[in-house]
Amino acid sequence: MSLPKKSLFELPKGIIYLDGNSLGALPKGAASRAAEVITNQWGGELIRAWNSADWMSLPQIVGDRIAKIIGADAGTVATGDTLSIKIYQALDAALKLRPNRKVILSDDGNFPSDIYMANGLIRTLGDDYELRLVAPEDVMMSITDDVAVVMLTQIDYRTGRMHDMASITKRAHDNGAIMIWDLAHSVGAVPLDLKACRAEFAVGCTYKYLNGGPGAPAFIYARPDIVDKVEPILSGWMGHKTPFTMDLNYQPAQKAERFRVGTPPIVQLSILDAALDIWDDISMPDIRAASIELSELFIKQVEAACPVLKLLSPKDADERGSHVSFAFEYAYEAIQALIDKGVIGDFRAPNIMRFGITPLYIDREDIIHAAEAMGEVINNELYNNPKYKIKARVT
Ligand SMILES: *Cc1c(COP(=O)(O)O)cnc(C)c1O
Repeated sequence: MSLPKKSLFELPKGIIYLDGNSLGALPKGAASRAAEVITNQWGGELIRAWNSADWMSLPQIVGDRIAKIIGADAGTVATGDTLSIKIYQALDAALKLRPNRKVILSDDGNFPSDIYMANGLIRTLGDDYELRLVAPEDVMMSITDDVAVVMLTQIDYRTGRMHDMASITKRAHDNGAIMIWDLAHSVGAVPLDLKACRAEFAVGCTYKYLNGGPGAPAFIYARPDIVDKVEPILSGWMGHKTPFTMDLNYQPAQKAERFRVGTPPIVQLSILDAALDIWDDISMPDIRAASIELSELFIKQVEAACPVLKLLSPKDADERGSHVSFAFEYAYEAIQALIDKGVIGDFRAPNIMRFGITPLYIDREDIIHAAEAMGEVINNELYNNPKYKIKARVT
């Protein structure tokens, strides 16, 4: 199956883009929307645009659109800032809901920034807090009744290994813990049902599978029955009940809006809003089915063309998100050589070649060509060219 959506993206000719899990491709409507916001709204309306173009409602409008994609109700998702900041806010809120417990449980496959933010928060809160990191496969048995918060990223950014949200959340709740899911590599990649899973908090970014563009705002979900108890750690004026009364006493806004901090990034939010149009008539089960079909094909073709590569992602599609990784001694150099051939994937330390499978703009033909190019790079040792050894700032 392929989804007839490729025509909705601006893709450079001759490029097969297998990095949409890191920075999604440019949707066709995005540039004209940005131009409209910059030229007509900002340029023409100046500050009046906060009302006349309804900039003030944009964070909420976009939040409600994301809510649909993650299986949540309108009003439960706030947008803005970056994912690292949303992790900090969610974790602080979660810890304060369990004041008698001091343990945050996460796994060592989590993304470094999530771990850094947790350690930064612990330094602020005091030494009696502990971040307990276990192997991903040991998470279930490590959820014990001293754990305050289980903080996990559903899909491992390196291997694509996927946690089962429903069973882990249930075990957290059975042990009296609060659950936070980071959906960075999940939203727009796999079907999500936050309402059914009943996690208290979820966070994610929108520049990966949602194609919101570099620096697009993050989102945070809070379960409606607990959100009113949250005293936001980052109590900025945009999360105030009535920002323009200029009250010196902070009073949190209703529902998820209390997780807003400062002035929303209107140009980025507008681009994201345009990017989300694509999702209006798409079903996540269809995306998932196409992602699995393309990933299986990719694995089969690459394993046949390059036996020296070792599959790092789970073999079973049910345990894998929407990217596929291989280990290889010269992974960095091989990725550079592949990019020179027009196939864009990325490198993750220490030895990982990573490929995002985004069925909105990748089809079977792309997959077959990409695997052929990998065969050439690996079997002809094109990665040995010294120019591929020079490390760029971003890999
Ligand atoms: C991409 C990603 C991030 C990035 O955070 P930013 O603050 O948006 O830079 C954080 N956590 C996870 C799990 C990610 O995949």
